[in-house]
Amino acid sequence: MIINPTIVKKNAQKGMRTVVRAKKTPLRMCTGCGEMKPKKELVRVVKSPEGEVSLDLTGRKPGRGAYVCSNLDCLKAARKARRLEKAFSCQIPAEVYERMEEELLANEK
Ligand SMILES: [Zn+2]
Repeated sequence: MIINPTIVKKNAQKGMRTVVRAKKTPLRMCTGCGEMKPKKELVRVVKSPEGEVSLDLTGRKPGRGAYVCSNLDCLKAARKARRLEKAFSCQIPAEVYERMEEELLANEK
């Protein structure tokens, strides 16, 4: 089998161009509806180094982040599908979800 070096080079260039385009508009996936949206339209959920899960409305909290649309439906969908638990590989108690739902509601107003 002969590998055509021209084809390999073309594919490599194509791949690089895709990376550059992705950098221009940072998209994140909502853990609720699964849609890719610009970071600004999403709310960050963060797991702190201490293991505490909370909403990060400022986007500045340290720790591992996941994203959800800024609406209650998506947070509830993420809760139902346990996507945040999967993203953080930990259990999230009901009261933590309730607190996040309250915070999200307060943020929407
Ligand atoms: Zn969503």
